[in-house]
Amino acid sequence: MTDYEKMLDKAYSQLPERATQAERFEMPYAEIQIQGTKTLIRNFDLIISKIRRDPQILVKYFSRELAVPATYANGKVTLHGKFSDRAVNEKLNEFVNSYVLCKECKKPDTKLIEGAHGVRSLICEACGARSPIRN
Ligand SMILES: [Zn+2]
Repeated sequence: MTDYEKMLDKAYSQLPERATQAERFEMPYAEIQIQGTKTLIRNFDLIISKIRRDPQILVKYFSRELAVPATYANGKVTLHGKFSDRAVNEKLNEFVNSYVLCKECKKPDTKLIEGAHGVRSLICEACGARSPIRN
């Protein structure tokens, strides 16, 4: 290793862990649009591509948490009720925290598996942690 490489190595090792993780995963943000008595999530497919979860799980989650029917078509979700930007994004953040981010290392490199009786667990590909998901 050259002196320059040593210096770089040292600099990287001193980076706070939190900063590098924040850089890796950006919380998705739902863009909504009110249409009459309905709320549309316009960028649903983009959210799905970021969080790598089955869209139907997130659609069901919104439906249950907001207590209205929700339908998924053409890359958009329609919530059959009027909701503020904040209300929808609060639910989205909760979903990401429960269904996407590892409970141990907070990284998004996880997969969801369904066990007996429909109990889901989150398996982390980064640290190997396995956490059951409530609900
Ligand atoms: Zn982990």
